[in-house]
Amino acid sequence: DARTRALEESNQVLKASLERQREIHEQLLQTAKLAAVGQLAAGLAHEINNPLGVIIGFGQALQRRLPEGSPLAMPVASILREGQRCRDMVTEMLTFSRRSKPVMEPVDLNALVTATTVLLETRACQQRVVLKQALAPQLPPVSANKNQLQQVLVNLSTNALDAMPQGGTLTLSTRRLDDGRLSLQVADTGSGMPPDVRAHIFEPFFTTKELGKGTGLGLSLVYEIVTQHGGRIDVESAEGRGTVMAVQLPAPAPAPLTGRPALQ
Ligand code: ADP
Ligand code: MG
Repeated sequence: DARTRALEESNQVLKASLERQREIHEQLLQTAKLAAVGQLAAGLAHEINNPLGVIIGFGQALQRRLPEGSPLAMPVASILREGQRCRDMVTEMLTFSRRSKPVMEPVDLNALVTATTVLLETRACQQRVVLKQALAPQLPPVSANKNQLQQVLVNLSTNALDAMPQGGTLTLSTRRLDDGRLSLQVADTGSGMPPDVRAHIFEPFFTTKELGKGTGLGLSLVYEIVTQHGGRIDVESAEGRGTVMAVQLPAPAPAPLTGRPALQ
């Protein structure tokens, strides 16, 4: 009996360690993929940016010269729109190749959420999505790169809006966890994800959106930025009910004591 129990126990240990190995293996694959994309992006972006600049530049010149009501207005506008989209994609891809540490500054998460909400208002309104904020009061500033954090918020929110074509609620919230870490959450009441989609969302170029709608780079970018900040991202999703993406950032360093020491 004792031997059977001992065997069962060692079996459990083995199972756990295999599972752990599988996780590490997947993380390594993910890192290798990101590195490959980074190299590819650095090389391609430069080559593509120059011809794109020419296309967009002459496109704009053409657009200015078109007479009122010209039948060429629509095709020229399309050329410019799609050219711009390519340029945005190149910019997104370039973030992967910037391996150096981003410049950190104190960032007020609540202010960032409020600023980002403004950017989302027009689209949310068109889709009949209600925007909500739940901000923790007196949040200490977090050490982060503001532009990159904004990119994280915008990418997560864009996905949330994409998941709610028939309307819903998008809630952006900030929180201070018990251990001092700060959390930034983007919650939607949209489509949610089945497990086989959920398993791949952080992979570069993974998208379930139709051609021309998604690049599949949004979440891998988010992952890259959050990791660079020493944070992590958790996903909770229920099919047909919605998704919560929670970004956790390291606890801010304690504020230096200022002013005069208190009187005894
Ligand atoms: P893209 O938005 O270009 O498709 P992302 O990397 O941003 O690429 O997202 C990858 C995929 O993850 C999406 O195509 C979608 O299937 C899924 N996804 C991400 N966020 C959500 C969400 N809030 N609700 C449902 N599905 C999501
Ligand atoms: Mg996206």
